[in-house]
Amino acid sequence: MKIAILPGDGIGTEIVAEAVKVLKALDLKFELEEAKVGGAAYDAHGHPLPEATLKLAKESDAILFGAVGDWKYDKLDRPLRPEQASLGLRKHLGLFANFRPAICYEQLTHASSLKPELVAGLDILIIRELTGDIYFGQPRGRRVSPDGHFPGAEEAFDTMRYTRPEIERIARVAFEAARKRGKRVTSVDKANVLETFQLWKDVVTEVHAKEYADIALDHMYVDNAAMQLVKEPKRFDVVVTGNMFGDILSDEASMLTGSIGMLPSASLNDKKQGLYEPSHGSAPDIAGKGVANPLATILSAAMMLRFSLNQPEAADRIEAAVKKVLAQGLRTPDIYSEGTTKVGTREMGDAVVKAVG
Ligand code: NAD
Repeated sequence: MKIAILPGDGIGTEIVAEAVKVLKALDLKFELEEAKVGGAAYDAHGHPLPEATLKLAKESDAILFGAVGDWKYDKLDRPLRPEQASLGLRKHLGLFANFRPAICYEQLTHASSLKPELVAGLDILIIRELTGDIYFGQPRGRRVSPDGHFPGAEEAFDTMRYTRPEIERIARVAFEAARKRGKRVTSVDKANVLETFQLWKDVVTEVHAKEYADIALDHMYVDNAAMQLVKEPKRFDVVVTGNMFGDILSDEASMLTGSIGMLPSASLNDKKQGLYEPSHGSAPDIAGKGVANPLATILSAAMMLRFSLNQPEAADRIEAAVKKVLAQGLRTPDIYSEGTTKVGTREMGDAVVKAVG
């Protein structure tokens, strides 16, 4: 099992170090190889995703990724900015399925912005299609408007598009995931207005009828889904949607759980090769202070063991260890509340290592 370790920038290096410690505490054999990515790679090699890093990522079974970005790179041309590394890895590895679980841990129920009874026991999984939709559709650009309300005015346009096979494969990923959980899928679309999402709805319905009759499927318009996520989040099990709607809904869902420092994510291709990273960014405001919460990255490593490395028991061990340290009252500042014990990044990592052993 070969794992590419790409810590990146800001708190990325601090939190990935803790996740690596936890991986090493398991009695499993891994080959771990580290490379630079993002701003750190730009500083060292002049590019956010150097050839050597991409090669390592391609030949690994999984990638453990920290975060990239810092305000100091904001003046660079877009192709050289740290964030291009994430987009490049998604594109080159064909990482089309993004998994974002939103789990509200019992001890952190009060940290949510919603009433505790709405989020207690919350465990939903948002599956976002990651390589299609309006973010990648061509043509796009700027031009002189040929028609519409202001012909002759400057305009910008993007193209929303999905092919049948793209919808089929993400639908299958969602139904397969639901089979291992609560056996319910909500497909989110905007079929009442958009042709692209009428096709989406038709194809999801067909795949369901032909292959997944054991799973309960319902369809929901994206505006209603955004509302239901804050009104009654526990009604959902697996939510599957396109790239743009998934981008927005997964961030909304992540906040239900209280802290962005707790949320892992996985992006997989059709060979189950995956990139695993926390849902948050490089947090330049707290980088180097030793206070970042490493749990999202540690939980991402657990997802890696489950989805790409076929080690579900090891994944369970890590997740149980995280619950244990929370039950012990250990908290990094982002999840701290009165009566608990404030710890730093390293202490939290050490506690998980101890609980795993
Ligand atoms: P951010 O997620 O880095 O930080 C938002 C807030 O959450 C900050 O106050 C930060 O201190 C806090 N935070 C984030 N992670 C935390 C953790 N593990 N523990 C405790 N607190 C945590 O978002 P931002 O500030 O908007 O972006 C900072 C940089 O990160 C930007 O350059 C942005 O482009 C980049 N970014 C990268 C990724 C990625 O690599 N996948 C994702 C989002 C943002």
